[in-house]
Amino acid sequence: ETTNETYEPIAIADTASEEDLIWNISLQARIDAALASNEIYLAFQPKVLIQSGEIVGVEALVRWNDPERGQIPPDNFIRQCETAGRMSQLTRYVLEKGCLAGNAFDEAGLSIPVAVNISATLIHERQIVDMVAEVLDQTGFEPRHLTLEITETYRISNLDLAAGVLHELAALGCKISMDDFGVGAASLEALLRLPFDELKIDRAFISQMLVNTKAEAIVKSILAMGKTMRIVVIAEGVEDTGTLTKLRESGCIVAQGFGISRPVDFETILRNHNLGHSEALRNMV
Ligand code: C2E
Ligand code: MG
Ligand code: MG
Ligand code: MG
Repeated sequence: ETTNETYEPIAIADTASEEDLIWNISLQARIDAALASNEIYLAFQPKVLIQSGEIVGVEALVRWNDPERGQIPPDNFIRQCETAGRMSQLTRYVLEKGCLAGNAFDEAGLSIPVAVNISATLIHERQIVDMVAEVLDQTGFEPRHLTLEITETYRISNLDLAAGVLHELAALGCKISMDDFGVGAASLEALLRLPFDELKIDRAFISQMLVNTKAEAIVKSILAMGKTMRIVVIAEGVEDTGTLTKLRESGCIVAQGFGISRPVDFETILRNHNLGHSEALRNMV
């Protein structure tokens, strides 16, 4: 079975042109060099209590500042890592930096969970369990403060396999979060069969909430479902006060989005344990 992780450049030799092959090898080299330097770093976006503005977690988001190509958008970069067979290396890097940042937040009196994004393709192999266990061991970060956000869950091709791996990750003490909930096929089946502690309502629904009654109904249903299932529900992509007010009225407790805070650097998180002064929260009535 061929997965992204076992990908070898030679495997595409018969289908891809020599040019593609050279591009791919140079891409691998660039990613390896970037991981070894500090061209790749993390930004942190707060998750806050709508009621008070208190930061109750941060999501680590990867950034690549390539000296030649400038800032490379994460979506693009993640795809490149998959193409180049470098998803494991990237994930390990983000896990390590995320846990170290978590330790530093702890020491500064901000004892909050740190969320790391994990591509769905990685949860088909036990290798990820060993990786997370090793990083927790090496860094000494508290497992209950590491949240694993599983992205693109529609790409989970084998739910039995994924369930086994996620149960092992949960057994390490980590929290498991379903990212971008609602978009992509089979997300309800994944919710039924995988051990999620948290789910994040995709921005596609949140951004439409005030103008589209269907979007509003979907958000309210997800909130009700999360409550019954005792799963924490987070609204992603909150950009304005109106949406935040509507979310609060709908019973949503935790939110994340540009209106509260953009992804920021480590020091900015340390300086602000509470974001009640943020644009969206300040104007709420
Ligand atoms: P995501 O995990 O759903 O992360 C949220 C994305 O939405 C971030 O984009 C964030 O900057 C953006 N966002 C947050 N609030 C708002 C808002 O109010 N409005 C708008 N328009 N956007 C908002 P970013 O950093 O570009 O990341 C994009 C995606 O790349 C992430 O989506 C995640 O799937 C992936 N990603 C990022 N870092 C990693 C990583 O370390 N590993 C993996 N596997 N994937 C990652
Ligand atoms: Mg995420
Ligand atoms: Mg998301
Ligand atoms: Mg996303």
